[in-house]
Order: sequence, then structure tokens, then C-alpha cells
Amino acid sequence: MLELKKINKSYTTGDFTQVALKDVDLKFRKNEFVAILGPSGSGKTTLLNIIGGLDRYDKGDLIINNRSTKKFKDQDWDAYRNNCIGFVFQSYNLISHISILDNVEMGMTLSGVSSKKRRSKAKKALERVGLKDHMHKKPNQLSGGQMQRVAIARALANDPDIILADEPTGALDTKTSVQIMELIKEIAQDKLVIMVTHNPDLARDYANRVIEMRDGVVLSDSNPILENEKEDKEYKIKRTSMGFLSALKLSLNNIKTKKGRTLLTSFASSIGIIGIALILSLSNGFDKQIDIFERNTLSSMPIIISEQAMNLDEETMNEMQNEVKTTDEDYPDIDYIIPEKTVEDTYTHRNNITKEYVSYIENANPDIVSGISSYRYTGLNLLNKINGKVKVISSENMGSIPKTLSEDKKSVIEEKYDILAGREAKEKYELVLIVDSKNHVTEDILTNLGLDATKENISFDDLLNSELKLILNDDYYQKVGNYYTVNTDLDELYNSKNAITLKVVGVIRLKEDYPSYVQTSGLTYTEKLLDYIIEVNQDSAIVKAQKNANYNILSGETFDLSTDEGKYAKEQTLAYLGDDSVPYVIQVYPRDFNAKDELLEYLDKYNEGKDVDDQVVYTDQAEIISSLSGSIMDAITIVLVAFSAISLIVSSIMIGIIMYISVLERTKEIGILRSLGARKKDISRVFNAETFIIGVASGVLGILIARLLLIPANIILYNLTDLENVAVLNPVHAIILIIISLILTLIGGAIPAKLASKKDPVIALRTE
Ligand code: ADP
Ligand code: MG
Repeated sequence: MLELKKINKSYTTGDFTQVALKDVDLKFRKNEFVAILGPSGSGKTTLLNIIGGLDRYDKGDLIINNRSTKKFKDQDWDAYRNNCIGFVFQSYNLISHISILDNVEMGMTLSGVSSKKRRSKAKKALERVGLKDHMHKKPNQLSGGQMQRVAIARALANDPDIILADEPTGALDTKTSVQIMELIKEIAQDKLVIMVTHNPDLARDYANRVIEMRDGVVLSDSNPILENEKEDKEYKIKRTSMGFLSALKLSLNNIKTKKGRTLLTSFASSIGIIGIALILSLSNGFDKQIDIFERNTLSSMPIIISEQAMNLDEETMNEMQNEVKTTDEDYPDIDYIIPEKTVEDTYTHRNNITKEYVSYIENANPDIVSGISSYRYTGLNLLNKINGKVKVISSENMGSIPKTLSEDKKSVIEEKYDILAGREAKEKYELVLIVDSKNHVTEDILTNLGLDATKENISFDDLLNSELKLILNDDYYQKVGNYYTVNTDLDELYNSKNAITLKVVGVIRLKEDYPSYVQTSGLTYTEKLLDYIIEVNQDSAIVKAQKNANYNILSGETFDLSTDEGKYAKEQTLAYLGDDSVPYVIQVYPRDFNAKDELLEYLDKYNEGKDVDDQVVYTDQAEIISSLSGSIMDAITIVLVAFSAISLIVSSIMIGIIMYISVLERTKEIGILRSLGARKKDISRVFNAETFIIGVASGVLGILIARLLLIPANIILYNLTDLENVAVLNPVHAIILIIISLILTLIGGAIPAKLASKKDPVIALRTE
């Protein structure tokens, strides 16, 4: 039983209120064909929309199943529309991007009927309206009459109790109109059909009850329901629910009709993903390269033990950071000052390099240590004849050649250097010249060797013939009162038979795969030479005299032996003069990557159980360099990712705008779906499904494009750096990026989807 009690409806636009229905009282039988007649604007459509639950009445009541609908919620109205009502509109209102069959199925899709069942029901309905052969066509492939048949089939498919038809023949020619009316009449045999028309002939010929309306009121009713008439029809109202898959299918069909635009949208929104994917691949690749580089080259950089060491282990680093953090507040309002320790004071460690320590290192396993070089204060008394004149040559910038711990093992020179000319220095009177990666050597060194440094280039042969003279202390220094000075007759020293000839026997260069910042160049002597000089000079007169003096025997400067500095200055002077001394810097070369760890373990073991003052702290340069380059890479990556993230956000805003346009375009469809019983939720689901598809598409597209771009990127990198396949996209990153793209597009599309679901179905249906 359907009953309208004093239904009122008015529309307000601005200050103007239009009454569309005024105190309409009507009752309908479960089975009749009612025609509503009336001129345009008399409220027919409004009446139909209110009966169909598409529009809400302002006042009065609509009674369904003897129940008032005053307390109906949105869901109840949706369910009522979906189960009990079938709408047929003048303008057919078919969804253009899906097939006839899908259109007819839509009501059942919305209520969650299984696909098999709805297919058979839809086919039956299409058969009934005579369109079985056309079911796979799209609406725009049909004539007007055929489209109206589809609309009728759609209204019938879910077997509703009430069919509401709003001027179903309004857009059709007379002949087709008659066919449609016949069809509706046939339907009306077991249903309530309420049909709006402005054609009185059609109404009288086909309907068994005619209601006339004017200006929102019922003028006449040809067959009203009498007081004593019994009506016991119960309408079934079952809640509806559209599955996400159905929403996805609907959106997929919609997207298929605008492939180009979807592709462009996906591409545009994938740019951020492409950027991030490329950056991640590159930094990924660089990280790997740094790793390889570390293994190959940095691992063979020496571990340095020097008198002054920064204590850079993790614990101290943390302490240092905390120190900075816990400092007192900024710009305090206090009237005192706070003394502060410098970082150097707190964290430099004075290494006491003892003979014991030196021999500890020399006793290291030759399998893990390929060489040791040490730097001592010992001065070499060197002379050379330059342009016919004998001159003193400073040994300050000369170093010793790393010495190998075991005779049967490869020497450091063999392992790490290319011998460009001559050979390795084996004997104590042999020197070797190290050139840098460009074969450069400073002019001073060349001049000191007696070579003409003004020349463009100097041949290896010239170098290999160059010599220096070494003079031992007792010949070199002479006593003058309480002091010593360098013997003034340099020519005599140079020519004396006591002068030792040092000869350059080789030119070497660090191998190509060593980082350029490790390259040092200069003249080097053997440890053997140094040992010999110390052996002879420590018994020389000048050393003995210096030992007994509390002033510098060469300069006259006094040592304040009551202080550590004074004692240290004296020791240093003695060391310079050739007294037996320990090195001030020791460089230990690990054999390879694994050996380095073992070596560090060995060095750490020395410190076990020792006082902090007696501990020896080493510096692992390679570690510092690689952690530095690692953190620089991280910083660059973060900055670049941040930039791409912005483009990602911009693209999701763009998706939002595109979705909003899509909502505007699909307004009519929203109205149709609502008239078929779609809930607000279902509408937002349809749009969310669309953004879901775009999100996944743009993510996948982004990853694919990034993969393609990596090919030329790697070729360019190969040409620049000789490294093959540097940039590699981590599959985990790829998946995460697709998910991020999906989430962002869903967020971007959420607002338009919400707007869509809020659209008034009546207004939505009125839009073209
Ligand atoms: P009919 O279908 O009989 O031509 P309607 O029911 O569509 O008439 O309209 C009845 C009256 O209500 C008309 O005057 C129309 O202008 C007005 N009306 C209908 N819908 C709206 C609306 N959404 N906003 C404002 N006025 C409306
Ligand atoms: Mg109308």
C-alpha cells in the first residue's frame, strides 16, 4: 500500500519560493496503471520523485507498508528505491560508457546480486522488451525507442513493485510511443505503474486511472480508492550494498572511454615517482660503488698512528654530541661566565709511542700487514752540487719507503705502486722518487737533485742518474765554544771520502685505482738508511753534547726542563740530531679489506687493560672518508628526494582537480545511480575506484619509465666514470613508491569523491 498524506513541497531560489506540491492526498492500489496529467510546471515530476524516494517532501507523510516514512534514513530511502521502485525517464538516462546489458544489470549490481543471477534476470528483462539481440551494444548505438525499452528493461530487471515513468514517450514519435505504451500497459498487469504524461489521449487510451494536476494540487481523480477498499500488499525493502569490485568495474569502463586523458593524467602524476625512483636508484648505485671502492682501495689506505690523535671512536663521538647538546641555554640573563673546554682539549689523545709499541706493530702478522712506514725527527745531513755550487739540502719533506715485515711476502711497493723507471730501493744508499698521478714532482725536489727544473720535462734517465751526498754528524757539525755549527767548508765535505753517495734508483707512482687524495709525491729513502744513520750518529759528539746540555746546542735556546714542553723540546732536538728515537707517525698498511679488520683488532688488543694515558689511539682515514662520503651522499639524496616529493604532492593535487572535473562530467551518472538505489557511499566508492586505478597506473607507469630512463642514465654514467650499471632500482623501493603514489592519489581524489556522493540526485538528473 502506498499512500500520500497532505504532501507539500516547495523550492526556494533566492527570495522566491515556488510551491510544487500542495496538500496532495493520494492512495495507490498494488496493481493499476495510473496516468498523471497536467500542464508543464504543475508538479508532476516532483510528485513522482517524492513517491520514488528520490526527493524529500517538506510536510505531510508518505506511507509505505502502513509505515510512516518520516523517520526514514538515507539508507532506508536507498533500499526502497533499489528494491521497490523502477524509474523510467523521458530522456532515458542510460549510462553511456557501459553496455546495454550492464545498464540493465546496474540496479542489481548495486544491491549486490550475484553476477550469474543478475545476468540471467537482465537477459530476461531485455527479452521482454524485445532487445535481446542488442544487449552488447552501447546506448548510443540505439534509436530513441530502443533506448527507452532499455530503460524499461532496467526498471523491470530487479522486479520492483512500482514503476515510475516520467513522460516516457515525450521524446518519441507517435508510432514508437504507441509501442512503448503497449509495453508499459503489459507491465502494469502485475505492478503499480505511475506514468506522468501531458498527452490526454495516451492517458485515456492506456491507463485505468487518470489523475489531473494543476499548480501543485490534484484537480481530479478518475478512480480514487474508496474507504472500504482493502489493500494488503507488503513491499519488500532490502538494504543495498555495492561491492568495491563492481565500483572498480564501473570505473574501469568509464576510464576506457577516455584512455588518452587517463594516460596523460597518469603520466603527469607519475613524474614525481619517476624522479624519486631515479634518485633512489642513483644513490643506491653510488652507495654500492662507494662500498666497492672502499673494499678495493680505501681498505688499503694506511692506519695512521701519530703523536696527536683525535679520539674518534663511537663512544667519544656520542659524548661529544651530548656535550654540545647539554650546553647551557642560549642568551642567558646571567652575570657570570662559564669556562669551556675546547674540543681538542677534551678529545685529543697524546699517543705515547714507545719502542715497545713499535715492536708490537713490527711483530704483527705479515699476512695482514703489507707494510709499515714511519716518520722520525731524524735529520739527514744532505749536500748537493747545484750549478757548480755545493748547497745544504733539507731532508724535511723526505719520507721513508714503507718497509715490508716479511721477506717472502710481496712488498708494499709491488702491491700498491707501478714502477715507472728503474727499480725498487733495496740497499740503504738507494733513493726512490714517488710521482703523483700526473707524473708531477715539485720543482724544489728536482732542483735539489741537481736537475734543471726550468725545463718542460725531465727524462727518467736524467733522474735515475741524479745523486745526493750524505754527511755523518762528526764531519757535518763542528764545535764552536759551547755550541755547534754546520761545517762551513761545504766543498770539502762534499768531496771528502767520508761523504756517502745516495742514488735515485727508481721512479714509482701509486696505482691507478688509488684515490687521488692518497697520492703523495717526493723523494724517499729506505728504513735501512735511517737505521744506519741513527746507529752512527747517536754516538756522535754533537749528540753527546746535546744530551748533557739544557739548551739547544745549535740555536742556543734554553729548555725549561721542569715542564713537559721543555723535556719534549729537548727530546725532539736529540731525535733530530740522530739520537735513537721512536717515530712520531707510523703508517700501517693492511693487506686487504679483511686484513684491515684483523689489523684493527690487533691494534685494539694492545690497549686492553692499559691506562688511558698509555693507550695508543689510531686513525682510520678510510673509515672517515667513507663515512663522510656516505653522509654527503645521504644528504644529497634527501635533498633530491624532498624536491621530487614536492612534485609528487603537486601531482596528487592535480589528480584531485582531474577527479573533480570527472565528477562534474559524471553528474548525470551519479543521478542515475542514485535513482537506481545507490547509496552515497557507493557513489564515493565509484570515484575512489577511479582514483585507485589512476594511482596504480601512475605508480606502475612511473616505475616503468624510471627503469627505461636508467638505461641511458647508466650509459652516460659509464662514459663519465667507467662504472658499469651504477644506477639500479631496488624492487622494494619500487613497490613502496607504487603504494605511495596510490595513497597520494587516493587522498587527492577523496574530496571530489565526497562531493560527488553529496550531490542531490534530483538536481544531478536534471543536468545535461
Ligand atoms: P512538471 O514536471 O509538472 O513540469 P515539476 O514538478 O518539474 O513540474 O515542477 C513543479 C514546479 O517546481 C515548477 O514551477 C518548477 O519550476 C519548480 N521546481 C521543480 N524543481 C525545482 C528545483 N530543483 N528548484 C527550484 N524550483 C523547482
Ligand atoms: Mg516534469
